[in-house]
Formats: sequence, C-alpha cells, structure tokens
Amino acid sequence: MLRHSAWLICTTLLLSACARDVPTSDGYDPARDYFSFANTDQFVTEHLALDLAVDFEARRLSGTARLDLRRLDPDATEVVLDTRDLHITSVLAFAPENAPLPAAFRFGDADTIKGTPLVIQLPEGMASAAAVSLKIAYATSPQSTALQWLPPELTAGGKHPMVFSQSQAIHARSWVPLQDTPAVRTTYEATITTASNLLAVMSADNDPLAPRDGSYTFTMPQPIPSYLLAIAVGNIYFAPIGAETGVYAEPELLEASVYEFADTQDMLEQAERLFGPYEWGRYDLLVLPPSFPYGGMENPRLSFITPSLLAGDRSLVAVIAHELAHSWSGNLVTNATWRDGWLNEGVTSYLESRLMEVIYDKDRADEERVIAYEELLLDFENVPLPMQALAPRLDDGDPDDFQGTIHYHKGQLFLQYLENAFGRDTFDEFIFGYFEHFAFKTITTERFLDYLDANLLSGANAKVSREQVEQWIYEPGLPGDAPVPKSATLDSAARLAGGWAVGEVAIGEVPVADWSPQALIHFINNLPSDLGNDRLEELDAAFGLSDTNNAEIARTWFIQVAERRYVRAYPQLEAYLARHGRGRLISPVYAALARNGVDLERAQSIFEKARANYHPLVANSLATILYPNNT
Ligand SMILES: [Zn+2]
Repeated sequence: MLRHSAWLICTTLLLSACARDVPTSDGYDPARDYFSFANTDQFVTEHLALDLAVDFEARRLSGTARLDLRRLDPDATEVVLDTRDLHITSVLAFAPENAPLPAAFRFGDADTIKGTPLVIQLPEGMASAAAVSLKIAYATSPQSTALQWLPPELTAGGKHPMVFSQSQAIHARSWVPLQDTPAVRTTYEATITTASNLLAVMSADNDPLAPRDGSYTFTMPQPIPSYLLAIAVGNIYFAPIGAETGVYAEPELLEASVYEFADTQDMLEQAERLFGPYEWGRYDLLVLPPSFPYGGMENPRLSFITPSLLAGDRSLVAVIAHELAHSWSGNLVTNATWRDGWLNEGVTSYLESRLMEVIYDKDRADEERVIAYEELLLDFENVPLPMQALAPRLDDGDPDDFQGTIHYHKGQLFLQYLENAFGRDTFDEFIFGYFEHFAFKTITTERFLDYLDANLLSGANAKVSREQVEQWIYEPGLPGDAPVPKSATLDSAARLAGGWAVGEVAIGEVPVADWSPQALIHFINNLPSDLGNDRLEELDAAFGLSDTNNAEIARTWFIQVAERRYVRAYPQLEAYLARHGRGRLISPVYAALARNGVDLERAQSIFEKARANYHPLVANSLATILYPNNT
C-alpha cells in the first residue's frame, strides 16, 4: 500500500524496542498476531467461496461465505473467526461426504480495533473430521470499515453508484467472516450479483471480455492472505495497455489513465527480469474516484489506484512501480503479522526504486530516494522511539497507523545498505533467491534474518555482521553508517531556492521547465522560513503553483501556503482539500492549517464541508488532527 506520512498518534509503548524472536518475560510473543481472534493454531482456512449480492440502496453485501478448513488440533471443537459489524443469520457445517448440519454460533466481546469474534460450535459427529467446511449466511452493515459506498455524485461520471473495498490491514473482517490474519493464505472463488449495467471486479481472474450482465464469477487460484481480498462494483470499463496489462476505470477516466500508465507493461517485464517470474497472470489497474484513501493498494492482479496520479505527464507513476513490486514483496512473500510490515513495505519501496531506475533513469530514482529519506527524518521527529524499530513491539493500538512511513523508508534504506555493502550483483542474486525460496509463504522478520544470515551475511565475502543488521531491525533511528541518498538535481534546486530567496538568483533563472516535479517540490521545501508573502506571490505567478494539476506539487505548495498564511491562495487551497480524498495529499495540509496558530477553526469548517466525500479511514484520522481534545 502507499499511504500517507506520519501525523499519527501512536500508542505509548514504554517497553524496549528490542522485540526479538522469543517471547519476552511479560509474555509478549513477536510471532503472534495480536490483531486477530482466529484460533489458527487449531484450524486454518484453505479455500473461501463467496456468493454475494450487492445492494446499493441498503449499502449492503449479503449472501454466503463458505470456508474450507483444515484441522490442526484433533481435540478442537470450536472455530473462532474475525468479524466486524456483520449480521450473521445461520451457519451450516459439513465434513466431506456428509450432509450439512446447523452449527450453533455466538459472538464474543467486541473490541473497538479488532471487531467481534464469531465462535462457531462444531456439531457432534464432526469432532474428529480432518477437513470441515462452514457455510455462513450473513450481511454487511452500512458502517463496514472496508467498504466505501459512493453515491453517483461522488464518482467521475456522476450517474451510477460505486462501491470499493480496502481490506488492509484488518478490514476484510467487516465484509467477510474469516480468519483475518496475514499468517493464513487461502485460494478463493466468488459469485457477485449486481445491477446488470454495472461491472464487478475483484483481486482475482478478471476477464476483460466478460459479458456485462450483472452476474460475475471469479477465481483466485493462488493462495492469498485476507487483506488482499478486494472488490469494486460500478460503471467500470476496461482498456488495454499491453499484452498482460490494462486499466479498469469509469469511462470518463479511461483515456487519461491509459496515457498516464502507458509504461505499466514495460514495468512488468523489467520487474520479472529483476525479481523473478510474475506469478499472478494478468496485471491490471483499477483507477478509483478521489475518495480512495491511499496512493495505491496492491490487490493481486488488480492494483487499486488513486486518480490523483493522473497528472497528465506520467510524473507520479512511482506509485505504480510500488504496487507492481508488491506482486513479489507482500503478495508473494507476505509479512506474518503487521509487526513485520517492513517485509512488505520496506522491501517494496526498495524494489520500487530499482524499477524507477530501469524504467526511467538513475537521476529520477535518486530524486525519489532523497525525498523518501527526508520524509523518514521527519518521521523520526514524530514517531516515539520504540516504534522506530523496523520490527517494533506491536500488540496494541491500530495496525493501520503505528509508525508513519518508517517501515517504508527505513526498510528501503536498509536494503540499500545491504546492496552497497555486498555489491548490486550479489544482492540481486540474493533477492531473486529470497522470492523463490519463500514464494506463497508468510514469514516473520526473524525468518528473514535467518535466511539473510545463511545466504548473504555468512558468505566468504562477509561485509556486514548479524549485530549490524539487528541494529536496523530492533533499534530506533538509523545506524551511524546508514547510506544518505544524494541527488545533484535536488541539491541544485535547494541552492537555487536559497539564492532566489536572498535575491542572488532571478526567478527566470530557475530552470523549472527542465525539472521533474520532484525537483520543484524540493525547491519549495527549501525556501527559508522568513520569506514574505510578496515573494510567495512572485513565485506563484511565475510557476502557477496554486493552479497546478500535479497533486504532489500542490500538496507541497499548500503545506507552505498554510504554514506561512499566504491567504491569497486560500481559495485554491480549499478547492484542493475538497477535490482530493487521499490521506497523504490532504492530511499534512490540514495539519499545517491546524498548527499555524490562527486557522484551526477554518480547517475544521473546511473539513466539515468535505467530510462526507472522504473515506472513513481518512476522515477519522483527520478528526484526530482537527479535534485533538476529543481523542
Ligand atoms: Zn506498499
């Protein structure tokens, strides 16, 4: 996933960051998933079959989920599943070749973060069956945290409703009763029924030629963790990019999307060359309405993408490289718990930078590396020390938001450090072998470390010790010998910002036409804090910053506008906050308004007007920034 940066409120953890692979004296077990109720030590799901009808009027999915479970514990008599706000009407249990029997069920105590456990009692006679299937009849609630139901006016076309899911981290349980932990991988199939003029797509074998008749069937033959279960239904059409790649979107966005993401087929081919075979069949993109809360979500075979990448100049496609790279790190080799999230996001961020290098060039990749590094330094100022470890102690709080972007950028830097130490060829061989070795498995940080030790650190050419590696994994901040990314273009942009601010450089001498958006962003970020509004006006007039179509440039500019109270651009700032719903784009602008000492009420008023357009995940996070005394 590519998500927003910091501005988080972490649970206070007073214990050491050194959460290693053995349970600590207070019983904390780093290998355990503290965010699932499921008794996965007794039963594991091997296959899921969904049969769901979509009701836009009631904002509800209803139907059945069949879970095929393998028994691990011969004495277990109950199956415990994760749910949140689900209405369960019946459960049938059956063992192979036996008639189904009704199974008694009850809900356990609800938890605000984790939802409610569903405890299913297996009928007598199934006590020893090695395989058990459960067919659960249920309906979702309109408050499902995974599903966003958009009325027609919040879509690009404005005529048809749309619904889409965001299951990561622990929201799959709000649309399917299941073992909602990345430690369990299942294959799945689904039948989705909706209005005949709408198309349903899933993280499965979407058929671009499927007849548009309101009844759609899917299979996902590769086993995936529950957070990769995904669905979207709306006025969605398909257009191809390459032989194995294409875009799904509302017709109004299709042409722009095909243009913007034209490099996707090339990215796929280059990624296979670097990281090994692509194991998932097709790779398509689904471009969603602006309320999609993240940059992208790596739902297998069908990445969900924010429309804020449609800059018209292909300048923001690093997000596509990121989501595609997840087809290896995350989807193929998966973090066992959310505490190991860096195995998904850190490794992916590193792969993303490697892809950007081969698709574009090293300068472009270096620019993105520097910007990621600066975000990391900012996170170190905001994230409590124990949460700055790559693999921190995580048994409490919200797995959606516990360490800002540290698992992304520090993880990326850690792999860059290993590449620098061992040389690119050796490290590439290691990465290739790593994906092959752990394909379709979920692993803990410690399994990664043992593999790293055996296959890289212990070689004849040992350059890095296990102790050095463990410093990255278990300690806050960065080790003293961490690499510092550099970009000559960005250095020059920073120098020009300083020179222009003191009158040594004329605005016409700033070579903005030759720059990437990243260089302009760096220029803006390096303006001195005491710059007057008349100078900001000069800059705005020369570069058209308040009216830019590039969402990342706008984000950087409007943070400055809010911090410096450049009120002439406030109308455009308000329009920007109303237009976008992606957390990364709007949260820091709201935060800058809230903390400039004058505009908290203005920020609250903008938020209240726009709130209905935002995804609940983003709206809730903004509420903690704008109403700090209520949380
Ligand atoms: Zn990601």
